[in-house]
Amino acid sequence: MNWSPSMRATRREKLQQPQLSLLDRRVLAFDLFASDRDANVRLIENRMVVTRKPHDCVLCGEGIPAKSRVRAQSECDRDRNKVMTFYVCALCCAAIDLSHTDAGAALEARYRRRA
Ligand SMILES: [Zn+2]
Repeated sequence: MNWSPSMRATRREKLQQPQLSLLDRRVLAFDLFASDRDANVRLIENRMVVTRKPHDCVLCGEGIPAKSRVRAQSECDRDRNKVMTFYVCALCCAAIDLSHTDAGAALEARYRRRA
């Protein structure tokens, strides 16, 4: 596919995400790794996406089917010079939103699904 200026405009609009709902903003603000993290990592992108391929959720470990609207966070691991993308399934996104009113109970239940 050849590049055209209209493609750049489309990408810019996607990045700005003017349609972000309160739920989306809460989900995106949630710290996926809390303090349990290697510091030598740079955040590249954190946004809501519609998946093209199946992925596994970074929180509950369950499969995310293609065409799901989920959070995707891409990071560069400086030590390994490698980009990694972490996906959060729709049910975990809902649990993150709930954690503002249930003190994290729904999210804890999602974490417990990990084998
Ligand atoms: Zn999940």
